[in-house]
Amino acid sequence: MNRICKLFDIEKPIIQAGMIWCSPWQLASAVSNKGGLGIIGSGSMYPEVLEEHVVKCKQATDKPFAVNIPLLYPNIEEHVNTIIKHKVPVVFTSAGSPKKLTPILKDAGIKVVHVVSSTVFAQKSEAAGVDAVVAEGFEAGGHNGRDETTTMCLIPNVVKAVDIPVIAAGGIGSGRGMLAAMALGADAVQVGSRFAASVESSAHENFKNKIVESREGDTILTLKELAPVRLIKNSFYESVKNAYARCANVDELKEILGRARAKKGMFEGDLEEGELEIGQVSSQINEVKSAGEIFDDFVKEYHEARTELLSESANF
Ligand code: NDP
Repeated sequence: MNRICKLFDIEKPIIQAGMIWCSPWQLASAVSNKGGLGIIGSGSMYPEVLEEHVVKCKQATDKPFAVNIPLLYPNIEEHVNTIIKHKVPVVFTSAGSPKKLTPILKDAGIKVVHVVSSTVFAQKSEAAGVDAVVAEGFEAGGHNGRDETTTMCLIPNVVKAVDIPVIAAGGIGSGRGMLAAMALGADAVQVGSRFAASVESSAHENFKNKIVESREGDTILTLKELAPVRLIKNSFYESVKNAYARCANVDELKEILGRARAKKGMFEGDLEEGELEIGQVSSQINEVKSAGEIFDDFVKEYHEARTELLSESANF
């Protein structure tokens, strides 16, 4: 049996990424109800908001689901208390060290997965006691690693270096991409951008439409001095680019970023002044669909591509 399906007690090794401003209970429960693992993104939620989403998710599905805790955000202790109180079975941590939180969550009987962007961090996460890692490549949207290691290079390295299951992320927007990741040795895939442009995503309609319109080359990884982030190029990005051109220091970059840029772009729909975090795979997204349709497309295309690869014409 697939190691990730066994670990999470799910049917299909497809995980919907926890994304700030995009991953409410509606999306997480829809993916879990299809037999994958849905994740509520707590990074953009105040404690009472997360509790409401966890309660509603439990009402909407009797299948396992998870909460993502980006460790660079505030209120982590309160989020953890909510997760333990409501017996959420799985937590995905990201953007920080999993050392402190992993034993606390595991003592409460919760499965812990940490998101990494390098082989060294994968090994450190395994040593910290996590149950699995998400290895996320350069293509991914939102916060990302500094080294620019692509999914194609990262997955085989991580698979070789750790014994725990590896979930591939970054640039996976179709069943074909999923098959490629599995061929590289991953046990499962984590899909973000494709689900950000779903009916159930809490992103603003303007942002969903922008994802659909965006083409190859429209996103860039920037702000490495603060926390590297992949976003769609717009007026806000132009200010950042101009700041780099005049060799602005970290404080100036922080001032340009200001507060709540991500909310302005992804949740309030300001396509020019807001921050629009999305992966390179947005160039493959041509339509906003329901999470269920997206999930079915993945499974169908995965099996079609697999059959194609096993056919006579693929022999050489
Ligand atoms: P900000 O730190 O700029 O602002 C906080 C945002 O999160 C607000 O929109 C706020 O909503 C919302 N929010 C949700 N839950 C909470 C909570 N529990 N406490 C406080 N605010 C909450 O958010 P970002 O997402 O842009 O950045 C997050 C972190 O990442 C910050 O530490 C930031 O410095 C760092 N960072 C981010 C970068 C980026 O590109 N976004 C780049 C570099 C660093 P409301 O407005 O309703 O209060």
